[in-house]
Amino acid sequence: MINIFGYTMVQLTDLMIKLKLPKFRASQLANWIYQRAAVSFDDMNNLPKDMRQMLKEVCVIHRAASVDQLDSSDGRTSKFLLEFSDGVAVETVLMRQPYGNSICVSSQAGCNMGCAFCASTIHGMTRNLTAGEMLAQTFYINELLKKEGQKVDTIVIMGSGEPLTNYDNVLSYIRLLHEDYCLGMSYRSITLSTSGIVPNIYKLAQEGIPVNLSISLHAPENELRSELMPINKHYPLDTVIKAGRDYGEATHRRVTYEYILIAEVNDSIKQAKELAELLKGQLASVNLIPINPVTERNWQRPSLDRINAFESYLNKKHIPVTVRREMGNDIQAACGQLRNKHI
Ligand code: SF4
Repeated sequence: MINIFGYTMVQLTDLMIKLKLPKFRASQLANWIYQRAAVSFDDMNNLPKDMRQMLKEVCVIHRAASVDQLDSSDGRTSKFLLEFSDGVAVETVLMRQPYGNSICVSSQAGCNMGCAFCASTIHGMTRNLTAGEMLAQTFYINELLKKEGQKVDTIVIMGSGEPLTNYDNVLSYIRLLHEDYCLGMSYRSITLSTSGIVPNIYKLAQEGIPVNLSISLHAPENELRSELMPINKHYPLDTVIKAGRDYGEATHRRVTYEYILIAEVNDSIKQAKELAELLKGQLASVNLIPINPVTERNWQRPSLDRINAFESYLNKKHIPVTVRREMGNDIQAACGQLRNKHI
């Protein structure tokens, strides 16, 4: 059985040809799957009965089922553990922001990048997710929001996994989000977050899809960055910063550098100064993320004074900076923690 959830119009048309059905049926099928969120061929009452029967014999529409959910006490953040048909589960987060509903989507089940502060990598990577599985996360939350007369407004591909090592599936997912027959989202409302897979940052810049790029930096010098993010040994800081700069120039999109603030590790004024020096003259902003204490590691969140001092220094150097304020701390918003509990 093939799962056609996540199929593009081209793939659906190929399927029609293979089944010796008229090609125009592909757009009817897409309409049912993506616009009307059908999961059963029996519901597709404008398709002939024998076609529905034929489809039932060769394919399925599998999305994702929630196996766990945690809601923050302020009601603004919900984290879902969503399971696919083979039993693999990933986390997806809904954040109700003042500017709209944002979701954080996983691109792999687990992750093998080994970042020292991240719970998603503790059990390694189980497998890449398909475009359909990333879309299924999006649909799960979009369907929930629809009941409240709302929708998913922005997407960050920042859950478990390194999206640029699952390049083709992630690109198919992004293109599907944009298609009118699917969710019709603007590329500008989508952000891809990478640990800095330099060759694929260049590849992405050439795709002609102006998605926002977010690069995890977390340290302003190589020795510490390699300790926090082993990928830095392959793609050191200067190559990552240059790739970010080139991406900004090619796409005219501002690049955001993510910087997790860890007490006494990377939160000094000296490090803020080094960071400002690195980003000087670049169309970039910094997102400071005071770390959520990770039960499996011994990192602490800096004091408010230190967070404010780091932020002020960057502001003084005219580097746009935001601080991710506490959100969903009470539901363990750091990626991977709910899945780990489940494993
Ligand atoms: S921070 Fe991202 S890239 Fe690093 S281990 Fe976690 S999920 Fe993987």
